[in-house]
Amino acid sequence: MITAKNIHKYFETPSGTLHALKDVSLTVKPAEVVVVIGPSGSGKSTFLRCLNRLEYADAGSIVIDGVNILDPKCAINAVRAEVGMVFQSFNLFPHITVLENITMAQISVRKTRKAEADKISMELLEKVGLSQKAAAYPDQLSGGQQQRVAIARSLAMSPKVLLFDEPTSALDPEMVGEVLDVMQDLAKEGMTMVVVTHEMGFAREVADRVVFMDDGQIQEEGKPEHFFTNPQNERTKLFLKQIL
Ligand code: ATP
Ligand code: MG
Repeated sequence: MITAKNIHKYFETPSGTLHALKDVSLTVKPAEVVVVIGPSGSGKSTFLRCLNRLEYADAGSIVIDGVNILDPKCAINAVRAEVGMVFQSFNLFPHITVLENITMAQISVRKTRKAEADKISMELLEKVGLSQKAAAYPDQLSGGQQQRVAIARSLAMSPKVLLFDEPTSALDPEMVGEVLDVMQDLAKEGMTMVVVTHEMGFAREVADRVVFMDDGQIQEEGKPEHFFTNPQNERTKLFLKQIL
């Protein structure tokens, strides 16, 4: 589903060029859930952003469901529709209702008729347990509810892949579970997902594979049962010791 090969990303900063991704390669199979962990500044978000071209990789290749997304001829809207992204800050539009947040891109990007988009959106709200909030405005919802709406909004595009960048980091602790539950349901239904998170319980239970990034590189990856009990790389061991 995703084949990222030899990705490099550089940022120009006042103190010089920063090599943020150093030859990162990752393959994600259909319906696979890959959890990415690693210290702050290790390149997790940059890598995720390259996968839906929020950042343009400077070198390497990224093929998603057969489409070379680094091809300049590849339309950016097409990439974004196929590769959904859920952020730490939910980024809902504050001035329109929950339902309208979910229908908007279906109508403008997918060219779905309004009645059909409304129907799909209500089904998605049902799925994330929020059908009673369709007419509410985002600021009338809790953080956990807003994030579930943001997930429904991404799903409305019928993406082939969903990327999550610390989707629960901005939430009060009591709301983390409801968002992780929705993500776990998606995983069970066979959604292909790449998830950056500090929720190690989720990584253990839901991930098919855990990837550890440090210093702009993938240092180690493995199935959770091996990764957490028998890490090979010294940096992985140190990181796990700090967070577990
Ligand atoms: P965190 O856990 O804190 O979210 P991260 O692993 O997601 O960290 P990135 O945000 O990918 O890390 O950043 C990787 C490196 O690239 C960092 O050194 C960061 O400062 C730098 N960086 C990221 N975006 C930019 C940018 N737009 N301009 C310059 N430097 C950037
Ligand atoms: Mg980040």
